[in-house]
Amino acid sequence: MDFRLTDEQKALRDMVRGFASKEIAPHAQAFDEEGRIPKGLLDQMAGLGLMGICVPPEYGGAGMDDLAYIMALEEVCKASASVGLAMSVNNTLYGDPLVRFGTHEQKVRWLTPAARGERLGCYALTEPGSGSDAMALAMTATPKGDGFLLNGTKLFITNGEIASQAIIFATMDKSKGHKGVTAFLVDKASPGVAVMKKERKMGLLASDTCALSFENVYVPADHVLGPVGQGYKVAFSTLDAGRIGIAAQALGIAEAALEAAIAYAKRREQFGKPIAEFEAIQWMLADMDTEIEAARLLTYRAAMLKAEGRPRFTREASMAKLYSSEMANRVTARAVQIFGGSGYMKDYPVERYCRDAHALPLYEGTSEIQRLVIARDLLKEAER
Ligand SMILES: Cc1cc2nc3c(=O)[nH]c(=O)nc-3n(C[C@H](O)[C@H](O)[C@H](O)COP(=O)(O)OP(=O)(O)OC[C@H]3O[C@@H](n4cnc5c(N)ncnc54)[C@H](O)[C@@H]3O)c2cc1C
Repeated sequence: MDFRLTDEQKALRDMVRGFASKEIAPHAQAFDEEGRIPKGLLDQMAGLGLMGICVPPEYGGAGMDDLAYIMALEEVCKASASVGLAMSVNNTLYGDPLVRFGTHEQKVRWLTPAARGERLGCYALTEPGSGSDAMALAMTATPKGDGFLLNGTKLFITNGEIASQAIIFATMDKSKGHKGVTAFLVDKASPGVAVMKKERKMGLLASDTCALSFENVYVPADHVLGPVGQGYKVAFSTLDAGRIGIAAQALGIAEAALEAAIAYAKRREQFGKPIAEFEAIQWMLADMDTEIEAARLLTYRAAMLKAEGRPRFTREASMAKLYSSEMANRVTARAVQIFGGSGYMKDYPVERYCRDAHALPLYEGTSEIQRLVIARDLLKEAER
């Protein structure tokens, strides 16, 4: 696989690197303490085209490829994983299914303002009773007149408060299992939609995560995204793409942790010399660097497969997400170790990296679910 970057990809990465190091990284700790991302920052990012990187220009996006997007996301996450998460949900979980399944009219109405950052989107699949077993969802869509009435509760929704619009999943017939599920586009200002509990989390403190409730929310038939009864295809293919984004988030966090650990190891002296001169520290740094590189190869490979238009890259996306998210936990824990007691204090960013990394093996499919997806595909391939 050829990882030589195009001039366009390099230009985007370098632009985002400069922007993130100046406008995001110096304030990331403050965003976490305030528990929010300033709207002005998201507007600035939208102005740079970062809210719809792969969305075609006719629908307000930058029209770039998936590898360019992944590299841009990595740079933003290196500065703040919370800001990166808001960006990735709007780009991938909300934007990507609209690009692939939306009609022209839906793209004009629901995608264009999201890609321009004027009306952010969110993706609401998880419910109190269904997480890993997503298709066991209980939210209902009941036919009413020319449309449907939606009833139910969605849990742990990223951008749930700041978003203006949502892709939600509901069942029309629970007895049909996953084939009863349909995807809907919902304006959050619709009567009956309410933002419920705002979650208090371990990490990603600036990212907004909340429950959304839907009580007799009427949506007309043209708000159905993709075919009726094929919401599972919309949901799972979107997660394939989203998982590459989580892998990029892991890369960004881990790179930031490694850079901080190197700088600290070179300046912190014990026993009369910088701790970077101790072999124990050097081995930790070497392992961190090697694992980041391995994760990058898996992540960029998955992004390139998607960019090439491969209809299926499920296994590669799961491998990238599984390895990278667990890698980020190992790397950030080692960074805290290299900082010693200081690593546990909020004066340094490594404790934030460590807390943020903990979310990665949980969302968009836990590590256990990624292993299940990979093994299932592997065994199917062996049968062929
Ligand atoms: C910060 C954050 C943001 C999120 N944002 C969103 C969002 O924007 N939209 C959205 O829809 N959801 C979102 N989620 C929800 C997330 O996707 C779910 O938490 C995740 O899918 C896991 O579901 P669960 O929490 O119900 O865990 P459960 O499914 O209850 O799993 C509990 C444990 O059981 C294991 N397990 C479950 N099934 C199996 C199995 N078959 N084999 C082996 N082990 C298994 C799991 O791996 C896990 O260890 C977010 C979550 C977090 C933490």
